[in-house]
Amino acid sequence: MSVSNASDAYRDGLFGEFGGRYVPESLMAATRELEELFFAAWEDADFQHQYRSILASYAGRPTPVTHCANLSADLGIDLYLKREDLTHTGSHKINNVIGQALLTKRMGKSRIIAETGAGQHGVATATAAALFGLSCTVYMGAVDVERQALNVFRMRLLGAEVVSVSSGSMTLKDAINEAMREWVASVDDTHYCIGSVMGPHPYPLMVRQFQRIIGEEARPQMQEIAGSDPDFVVACVGGGSNAAGTFTAFIDSDAALVGVEPAGGAAIGRGTPGVVHGMRSKLLQDEFGQVQEAQSISAGLDYPGVGPEHSYLASIGRARYEAVDDGQVLEAFQILARREGIIPALEPAHAIAYVLAEAGKSIPAGSKVLVTMSGRGDKDSETVAKILGEA
Ligand SMILES: *Cc1c(COP(=O)(O)O)cnc(C)c1O
Repeated sequence: MSVSNASDAYRDGLFGEFGGRYVPESLMAATRELEELFFAAWEDADFQHQYRSILASYAGRPTPVTHCANLSADLGIDLYLKREDLTHTGSHKINNVIGQALLTKRMGKSRIIAETGAGQHGVATATAAALFGLSCTVYMGAVDVERQALNVFRMRLLGAEVVSVSSGSMTLKDAINEAMREWVASVDDTHYCIGSVMGPHPYPLMVRQFQRIIGEEARPQMQEIAGSDPDFVVACVGGGSNAAGTFTAFIDSDAALVGVEPAGGAAIGRGTPGVVHGMRSKLLQDEFGQVQEAQSISAGLDYPGVGPEHSYLASIGRARYEAVDDGQVLEAFQILARREGIIPALEPAHAIAYVLAEAGKSIPAGSKVLVTMSGRGDKDSETVAKILGEA
């Protein structure tokens, strides 16, 4: 397996006109140090061995690819799922936080900080911090602390300190500002763990490399199970890390790459270029450049921006980005449960919803379709039960 692909394109952090490093002077040195350290680590066989061993023994990799026989028959296509829902903690986020926690140790730092909206990235970071004996602080908007009480409890159980941020709209973007401020103040002993392919260079590239294991496993698995590459590779896009980690392995194949965004947070579909969170990418903003709140049934996807690599892949036409609405997502959530015995997280239910809508249309009959099942639906069952009036 090739490990040196961080040295491919984008090493400078530029994805065409997107990406870059838009940070205050006080964070230039820290992001440069991180960049150097990451590239050195990624190309170091010992680091790779450690990273992959932990993913195997602790996170449960490799995850299988499952052929969905029932839904395939219903839809007239061949549907395959890459099962990130079967990892420890139940989503692909574990791949990234283990990588960044290992880097934190390698830098000789003792503390990791993160920001979280729905709480999933906070729980993942707190998990990795517990495993590696790092102290951990998670910043969360006061509104989200209220809404996500169970995840706040989980983080505290895992030994993390949760800081409730009550500035601005008291949600994710305020938590991001606070985490950035704290990083400036404590950069000597603290690593800032970003949860998706977002932020200033090297984060978008680094997080994608920590997630590329998804696609690197899936491509040979498809060869073995399906006998060829898929015709379509479909993944949901919030910040875009599970999609980027999957797409990377199929960039040089003939597969159509499709990212699925929530209709209420379609940063690529409806966004325009701008600078946010230290990077240039497409984002939802009003005519005055004010960042707009995204709306989605799935808290993990309601971020107003998207990773710069996706803006780039869209601009060159190598990937396309489609939107589905909450009603389609709820239906997909139930159909996958009923037909395959797999309850998806609401995020990947977006990808399933897209396939349900397009099978036999833009996805021709007989196509082989690989969907990244980025996480399991236990966390969302109560939300869905309430919407369906069953709780
Ligand atoms: C956080 C999350 C996402 C969205 O993040 P990406 O960076 O777009 O992958 C998707 N699926 C699940 C299950 C998540 O927890």
